[in-house]
Formats: sequence, C-alpha cells, structure tokens
Amino acid sequence: MTEAAPAQRVDHLIIGAGFAGLCAAIKLQEDGERDFVVLERGPDVGGTWRDNTYPGAACDVPSQLYSFSFARNPDWSSSYSPQPEIQAYIQRVARRSGTLDRFVFDTTVEDADWDDTAQRWTVRTSGGTWSARTVIVGAGGLSEPRLPEIDGIDTFQGTLFHTAQWDHSVDLTGKRVAVIGTGASAIQVVPELQKIVAHLDVYQRTAPWVIPRNDRTYGDLERRALRYVPGLQRLYRTGVYLAKEATVPAFTLWPGISAPAQKQALANIRKGIKDPALREKVTPHFAFGCKRVLISNDYYPALAADNVDLVTDPIAKVTGSSIVTADGTEREIDVLVVATGFYTTELPITEHITGRHGQTLAEQWRDSGMTAYKGTTVPNFPNLFFIVGPNTGLGHSSMVLMIESQVAYIRDALRTMRTGGYDVVEVDQAATDRYNAALQGRMRRTVWSAGGCDSWYLDAHGKNTTLWPRSTWDFRRRLASFDPEAYTLSRAARPVHAREDVTA
Ligand code: NAP
Repeated sequence: MTEAAPAQRVDHLIIGAGFAGLCAAIKLQEDGERDFVVLERGPDVGGTWRDNTYPGAACDVPSQLYSFSFARNPDWSSSYSPQPEIQAYIQRVARRSGTLDRFVFDTTVEDADWDDTAQRWTVRTSGGTWSARTVIVGAGGLSEPRLPEIDGIDTFQGTLFHTAQWDHSVDLTGKRVAVIGTGASAIQVVPELQKIVAHLDVYQRTAPWVIPRNDRTYGDLERRALRYVPGLQRLYRTGVYLAKEATVPAFTLWPGISAPAQKQALANIRKGIKDPALREKVTPHFAFGCKRVLISNDYYPALAADNVDLVTDPIAKVTGSSIVTADGTEREIDVLVVATGFYTTELPITEHITGRHGQTLAEQWRDSGMTAYKGTTVPNFPNLFFIVGPNTGLGHSSMVLMIESQVAYIRDALRTMRTGGYDVVEVDQAATDRYNAALQGRMRRTVWSAGGCDSWYLDAHGKNTTLWPRSTWDFRRRLASFDPEAYTLSRAARPVHAREDVTA
C-alpha cells in the first residue's frame, strides 16, 4: 500500500476562482499575505462567467457596476456586457494582480473537516490534501446546475444539456429544440435559438416579469472619455449605483411603488406580441419583483415567431425522443435544453464541510435553513468565512458590491487575529441568532416573501435564505469592520471571549 502524501500546509485556503475568490486573493496579497492558495475545480478563473457560455449570455446588471471598484473597466462595449467580455475582464484582472501563481485549477474540493486538536482545516481535494488555518468559501451561489426531476428524462435519447453546461459541439441549426424554463437564462437563450433552429418549444411553468433592456453601445469617444477624463467613470458608476439603490424600497418596503415598472413590463408584452392568447399566457400572476425581474427586448418577439411554441401545459414526462404534456400532447425533439436554474438554498458544498462537532453545514442547516452571521461566518465552523453566503444575494444590483464588502470584513477579521495573536475565531450562536431574527423580521415585508410567487430565493420551508433585504450601502456599512464582540477568539491554549480581551 502506498502512503498518502502529507498535507500541504497554507495559512489561508480559498475555494473558488470567480469574482469572490479572486477578490479575496487580491486583497489578501495587498495585506502582505503570500501563504495562501486558491483551489478551483474548473480550468480557469471566472466562475459562473466561465461556465455560462450559452448563446446570448450577458449580464443583466449595468456594466458600470459589474467590475471591482479597484479595477474599473472603461472598455465595456455596451451598457449590459456580454459574457465573453466579463470573462475576459476577470482573466485580465487576475493576470495583472500577480496572484495567479497561487491558483490551483482543475482541483475539486471533496471534503473540508475542522480538526479541533490542530485547530486547522483539513481539506481533501481531487489533487491531494491541504491543511489550512482558515478557509474562505467563494464557491458561488449560482454554480451548481439543477436538472429538473421529470419522469423519463434520463431515457431521452437526443442531446440534453443545462444552459450552464452548454455543449458547443452540437450544431442546433435546423434542429427541433425544446427549452424548459423561462428564467433569466432562458430569456437570453431563446431569442438566439429561435434564429437558427427549425422549431423551438419553450416550456413555461410560471410567466416572468420582463421589462425592456434599454441597452446601448458605447461609442469610441465615450469609451475614451471614460478612460481618460479624470473622475468621469467614477461619476458614471456612482450615478448607476444610486439609480439601482433607489429601487430597494420597491422590493423591501413598498412594492406599490414599482407600479410604473410593472406598466412598462405590460407594455413590453403588447409591443412584442400581437396574439391575445399568447399575450395572456406570458402575463405574470404574481407581484412585480417577487421573482427576479428580467430584462429583454427580443424575448417576446422570439416567442411570437412562427417557429416557436410557448407550451404552458405541465410536462408529464420525457420519452426517448419527445416531451409529453399533461393534456396528452407529444412533441418530438432532437435537443433538450434545460434552463432550470441552480441549487441555491441547499448548496451541495455544504454537505462536504464538517465543523467542530462532526456535523456538516448541510446537517446544521437542515431545520433552520442557511443562516450565517452577516452572511459570512457560522457557529461551530471556526476560521471559516463565506463570500456570497446566506442572505447576501441581490434582487436589484451587482453582486460584486456585496463580494467586496464581505472581503473587507474577512480581511479585518484576519487582521484582528494577526495583531491579537489569535489562532481561532468563531462567531457566537447568540449573535448569529439575533442577526438572523432581525433579518427575517425585515424579510416578512418584502415582495419576495409576500408577492405570491415561489422562487429560487426561498427554501423548502418558504424562508428567504438567499437575498439581502436592504441596500448594498447598508451591507457595506455593517461589514466595514470586524466586530470581535460577536465572536469568541482564542489562542492555542485558552479560549478568550472577545469582550474580555480585544487587542485589535
Ligand atoms: P431560474 O431563474 O431559477 O429559472 C429556472 C426556470 O426553470 C424557471 O422558469 C422555472 O419555473 C423553470 N423550472 C425549474 N424546474 C422546472 C421543472 N421541473 N419543470 C418546468 N420548469 C421548471 O434559473 P436561471 O434562469 O438560470 O437564473 C437563475 C439566476 O441566475 C437568475 O435569477 C439570475 O440571478 C442569474 N442569472 C443572471 C443572468 C444575467 O445576469 N444575465 C443570466 C442568467 C442567470 P418556475 O418559475 O415555475 O420555478
């Protein structure tokens, strides 16, 4: 029997090389840390923007907000960037940051266990074992594709793939294609497929709200101005930021104020579709904003095209070559595209992270749903930090803002440990409970909870464990500095409650 190779030791281990992991790596390096590693299961940086390469993939958050504040990009081609530009941006930032030598690609984390004796994490991966003092999880909230559980789907003989795992080797030209789902991914891919396929069936379970995209290409002059006029891009970004933040009360306090946007969405239907029956089918029956509000100019015209059918009868089963709906209709297809979203409230990685008492995160969260303190730390999971953790998602603006806030908080936590000589930091249960009670109290009033829809924001108990119910500015303020009074910090021998001894 061969002996297992010894674990490689690092101070900090970051999981994931998307916006979150990359931001953490850059900021750790800025703080003078070099003893860290970024483990990434894919072959490159980019995370969700590396994986989602389906035709039409683009950002539905304005480009000006879709970059790090410390690496603004004057070169976006339009007000909503296409996926290849975002991926190229992330690659460029990674390359220029000088951190890439710390990244280990094609390496999947299999298990991470807290070793209470060593006071370190043991992280087993497809490429060997690591021992780390702290683990930063930046594995993404929309990174695990969810395949639909439909009778017979595994017997389908044609080509089947998820939008996040697009098979570019398949030529869809002239084929009979079905798309299941009408969320953010589907409404981008449907217009592109409509242009090339012989026939497209779009299977809609719930009609989404879709407002016009209002996209605009940036001219050469404008891009030059953004690059060279001092302060211009910052000003532009601030304007877009404030416009987005102004929409928060419509989601969290007074859904009634989104009435004009809802009118715009209804006008978008009338503009794109002439057939009254089809108009009726695509008209949502839940409050505007309850599910993610989608933006598109070409989705409705695509549905109205002669080679497209919008199917609203529930899917009964999939056969070797067709989809059969509950009314008994069978539609033959060559290719099945599932645009059915992601695991969001039961993140698969939580089954592989085991804390202080031998319980996995998934087990700890089984009854409560995902809960963390400030979306970042979890009782019983010492020295573990989440980026894009529970209740940090947004319905209105850019996740990059939230990522930067969380990374600032984690840096300050690590600084506190360093300067105070602490080995272990663990958030208190009471602080976590108080934080989440207030957060969920706030959540009750939001359109996401009260708007009469089911969405990926809610877990199996109907609890919203994914979104942040306030402004991004508020989140940033709360995470601006580490708050040791919510934690127990300990040196190797004796645990010290932070209230007794805070040197940072
Ligand atoms: P999604 O919003 O979760 O949409 C999934 C769709 O599949 C929904 O229409 C859902 O119907 C349907 N569906 C799920 N299971 C089904 C089943 N068994 N049978 C029939 N229909 C089923 O997923 P997504 O479109 O991939 O988007 C997820 C999130 O990713 C977005 O909300 C957004 O935050 C992000 N995203 C962003 C962009 C962008 O920036 N441009 C693009 C894509 C995605 P129901 O509505 O009835 O559940």
